[in-house]
Amino acid sequence: SNEEAAAKAAAVDADSGAPTIFDKIIAKEIPASIVYEDEKVLAFRDISPQAPVHVLVIPKLRGGLTQLGKAEPRHVEILGQLLYAAKIVAEKEGILDGFRVVINNGPDACQSVYHLHLHILGGRQMKWPPG
Ligand code: C5P
Repeated sequence: SNEEAAAKAAAVDADSGAPTIFDKIIAKEIPASIVYEDEKVLAFRDISPQAPVHVLVIPKLRGGLTQLGKAEPRHVEILGQLLYAAKIVAEKEGILDGFRVVINNGPDACQSVYHLHLHILGGRQMKWPPG
């Protein structure tokens, strides 16, 4: 469909390895509504929320983790930390009774920012299958 083609075109910058807007958020050069932060990870509200709660969890050091598909054994620890931070965010946001964790990987999944991020979505009835 046209909608699908447009979504793919928007995401098709693909994985150039260039710095992303998230570096500026980590550096606090542009404002973000931070929900949780520790030494390794940062969680902030998505600027275009798709649910009453929509938080992104990212590694502060992207390294090679532009997308999950680039993960290597050296990333296992941070991958676990990101998932655990997702639980902390869900708890803080009061959505432990139902929340979804999403990673869009690559153009076919409409990934638009090439700095690995988990979407934490909740606060409404989620549907399955997702779009
Ligand atoms: O998975 P995907 O790469 O498409 O997700 C990127 C997300 O980053 C989008 O949900 C978008 O709204 C969000 N974003 C943001 N703040 C920005 C740029 C993008 O929250 N400045």
